[in-house]
Amino acid sequence: MFMLTYKVCRCPYCGTVQLSTAKKTFKCVRCNKTRVFTSKLSVPVIKEFVNSRHATEFILKYKKVKAKSLDGFN
Ligand SMILES: [Zn+2]
Repeated sequence: MFMLTYKVCRCPYCGTVQLSTAKKTFKCVRCNKTRVFTSKLSVPVIKEFVNSRHATEFILKYKKVKAKSLDGFN
């Protein structure tokens, strides 16, 4: 059975948190750089989901918390 995994990743270049369904290559929506998923360290994966809605909700929450804790930082 084909199962898509929704990975919540942080871009190793610019730090943008985003959703990726790619298995091999991560492409950043912000800085447009690509990086191969060789390990969880090469592209930091915060969490994985099988449900796209859950993943999107997680990102929204994560960004809210981050925005609060890093207020004025970015
Ligand atoms: Zn980036």
